[in-house]
Order: sequence, then structure tokens, then C-alpha cells
Amino acid sequence: MGINILTLCYLIASVTYILGLKMLSNPATARRGNLIAAGGMTLAILATIFLYEYDGGLRLHNYAWIFGGIFIGGLIGTLTARKVHMTAMPELVSLFNGMGGACAALISIVEFDHLFHENKIDAAFFSDKTDGGMYLIIVAGAIIGSVSFAGSVVAWGKLSGKVKDLSFRGQHIANLVVLLMTISAAFFAFHANVRHANIPFFVTVLLALIYGILFVLPIGGADMPVVISLLNSFTGVAAACGGFLYDNKAMLTGGILVGAAGTLLTILMCKAMNRSLKNVLIGSFGATAVHTTVTQPQGAYKEISIGDAAMLMNYAHKVMIVPGYGLAVAQAQHACHELEKLLTDKGVEVKYAIHPVAGRMPGHMNVLLAEADVSYDNLLEMEQANEEFPSTDVVLVLGANDVVNPAAKNDPSSPIYGMPILDVEAAKTCIVNKRSMKPGYAGIENDLFFRPKTSMLFGDAKKVLQDLIAEIKTL
Ligand code: NDP
Repeated sequence: MGINILTLCYLIASVTYILGLKMLSNPATARRGNLIAAGGMTLAILATIFLYEYDGGLRLHNYAWIFGGIFIGGLIGTLTARKVHMTAMPELVSLFNGMGGACAALISIVEFDHLFHENKIDAAFFSDKTDGGMYLIIVAGAIIGSVSFAGSVVAWGKLSGKVKDLSFRGQHIANLVVLLMTISAAFFAFHANVRHANIPFFVTVLLALIYGILFVLPIGGADMPVVISLLNSFTGVAAACGGFLYDNKAMLTGGILVGAAGTLLTILMCKAMNRSLKNVLIGSFGATAVHTTVTQPQGAYKEISIGDAAMLMNYAHKVMIVPGYGLAVAQAQHACHELEKLLTDKGVEVKYAIHPVAGRMPGHMNVLLAEADVSYDNLLEMEQANEEFPSTDVVLVLGANDVVNPAAKNDPSSPIYGMPILDVEAAKTCIVNKRSMKPGYAGIENDLFFRPKTSMLFGDAKKVLQDLIAEIKTL
């Protein structure tokens, strides 16, 4: 009976993960989807703790450690997530992803240690197909989990500005060498004199950690989204290895789903950034893109007053809003929605052009605008928006920079060259709101600000939007 209940619990949990994932694809259902999947995960954890012994497993005696860990981890997670500012969310997600990778790596280390100290590792162990397969899973979990952990911590440091990008000559080769050394050490452990198998195993883990750091360190500027989603998929695969080791279906399904979703997201992000996955894997791209603050002005730019901007928008047929990271910084999403409603009431067609890597995490702008109840139907994806710019009267760029930088199209020496951008110049007029002439995340100058059709509207996005709303109301 117990066996059936445990299997049933795992089945229910797996179904909730799939449902949750599906619901996450729409901002309107995302919150509920997250809760449903979390409920399924809780069920799987409790079922494993209390029903495992009836499934032929051992009776657990270390409840204090288990629940102590869950309590402390849960408390830290809850407090951190509650305190975090919306703009720091990507860093937090990266850090949490790293914790997942660390857990998967620790599972592998613990299982290796068990085998080693119980003297189960002997010549027969490695030659036996089943045990050999088990070792492969242990090593895969240890390597992938360690790379994910170290890489995610570096990504967290970079996103929060604590870690500077580092690149050196021959880094491309060095990364490849470290990766090959990691795989060789794992292979050596497999064939080593069995009494010494632990040394190459721990060297493997150490090298994987070093690779994780080296792999993310040089990646800068506009290329981080790809790395973040790739690391996410690594954690999923590492967790799936744990599922194999413990023959735990819920863990296996969860890991595979995260791995698959992360891989798909990586491919989508690669497409959005126009990068090849091969370049991501050897950690060589974007090395020069990094926060190289360009201060030299490129020429003259013109400014527009609130009054003139309000007038332009009020009498336009069609306005396209391009949200970017600055909108999230200013927490101006509600003011933005209010402006949209006001203009719509006055008969202006208002839409939003969403670049896939705008903001600091995949889907950042969609989440932000959904928070302010902006209708999903008004959000245009990049390709669709680019088709509509020629028929747009006014584009209002709100705290976006890299995603509208024409250098991505015309300057082969630019670190973002090749990245598809929102073609705002195709519209009749472009108003750019930001606080200064400082560059965006990629650290490069933006020629758009100096183009004849562009006018700068300086100020904090929220304040500027509130002033625009007040002004339009008087027209
Ligand atoms: P950018 O980071 O390029 O530019 C944001 C702009 O917003 C800045 O130039 C800044 O200028 C302005 N800004 C900041 N605060 C405010 C404010 N309070 N009010 C008004 N403006 C403000 O943002 P984009 O969204 O255009 O591009 C995203 C970048 O981040 C890309 O390079 C992308 O690759 C990268 N990235 C994306 C990730 C993702 O998954 N989406 C993950 C990691 C990186 P100023 O200081 O003058 O106000």
C-alpha cells in the first residue's frame, strides 16, 4: 500500500511540475503555476521522508537534521526573497540556481564517499556495467553541479556589480584545457588504482569548479542572458543525475524538466543575441564588451521638453513604448500603464515593443508590465514590433539602451554587433527617456541618441511619466 502511495505522490508531483511550467509561460497564470509546482515539490519531499521506508528503503532516523535544514534554508530563502528589490531579482535567481547546482554536486560527493568508505569501489565495481554506470552518473552530477554552482556565483557577482569581468589572452584555449583536464581526471578516477580513486574524483570536482569560474568570468555586456539560462539548464541536468542515483522519479522528472526548459530558453536567448551555442560553451564571447564606459560624446544631441513630448504623443495616431532596464529601476510600470490608458482614451493606439533581452532576466519586461496589469495583447515581440515601427508616429524609449543601439547593425567592431535590435529609427519620431548620457549594460555609446529623429527626455522614468500624464491631461 505504502509503495503505491509513494509512487502516486511522485506522479502527482511530476504532473504539478509540468502544469506549473506551462502556467509560467503566461504572466496571468505564472504566480499560480509557481505555487502549484511548489506544492507538488513539497508533497514529493514529505513523501520521500515519510514513505520511503515502505518502498523497501531505509527508515530515516535523522529527522532533526532534515527538518532543521529545511527550516533554516526555508527561512533564509523566504527572508531574502521578501527583501529583494525587483531590479535585484536576476542576481537572486542566479544565486538560487547556484545553490541547486551545489546541492546536486554535494549529492554526488556524498554518494561517492559512501561507495568509497564502504569499500564498494573495487576493481569489480568499475568493471561491472551497473556500478560503472552509477559512477558515471555520480561524476556527471559532480561536474555539472559544480560548474553550475561556481558559474552561477560568478554570474551573481557580475550582475550585482561585485565581480569585474576578466579576460586574458588565450582564455579560449585555457578554458578548453581546463574542461579537458576535468573530463580526464574523471576518466582517470574510473580507471585508477581503486584505493586511490578518491584523489582524481576530488580533483575532478575542483577542476569543474575552476572551469565554472573561468567559463563565466570573461562573459560580459550583452551576453549574460544566454549564460544564465545555460547555467539553469545545467542545474536541472545535475539534479536529474541525483534522481537517477536515488531512483527518485520526482527528482528525475523535475531535473529533466528544468534541464529541458533551460536548454530551450538558452537556444531562444542565443537566437535573440545572434550567438552560437558553441561560443557559449567554450566561454569566449563578449570578452571585450564589458562595462568599458565610454565617456566621449559622439556629437550633438537634442533635448525635448515635457510639454513638447506630451503634445507629440497626444496628437499621434500610434505610439510605441520600448521598455528597458531603466523602467524596472524606476519602478515606473504603473505610471507607464497609466500613460497608456490616458492616450488610448484619447484615441491613440499604444503598444509595447518587447526585446527578448531587455532588462536583466529573460521575460523581465513581461513580468514588470504584467505587474501593472498591462494587457498581454498589447505586448509585441521584437519581429512584430519591427514590422510596425514604420507605421508608428512616436516611439517612447523608457530606460532602454542596448536593445535599441544601432551599432548592433552597423558597427562590426561593436561587442553587440549581430544582436537583433528594436529598429526604433524606422518610426517618425523617437523620444528617449533616461537620466543621463551614460551607457547601458554593455558599456557602449549609443549612436541612436545623436540621430536627427531622436530627442532626449532626461529624468527618472517614473517622474517623467508622471509629468507627461499631468501635461497630457491639460491638452
Ligand atoms: P540597458 O542596461 O542597456 O540600459 C538601461 C538604461 O536605463 C541605462 O542606459 C540607464 O541610463 C537607464 N536608466 C537607469 N535607471 C533609470 C531610471 N531610473 N529612469 C530612466 N532611465 C534609467 O537596458 P536594456 O534593457 O536596453 O538592455 C538590457 C541589457 O542587459 C542588454 O545588454 C542585455 O544583454 C543585458 N542583460 C539582459 C539579461 C536578460 O536576461 N534580459 C540578463 C543580463 C544582462 P541612465 O543611467 O543614463 O539613466
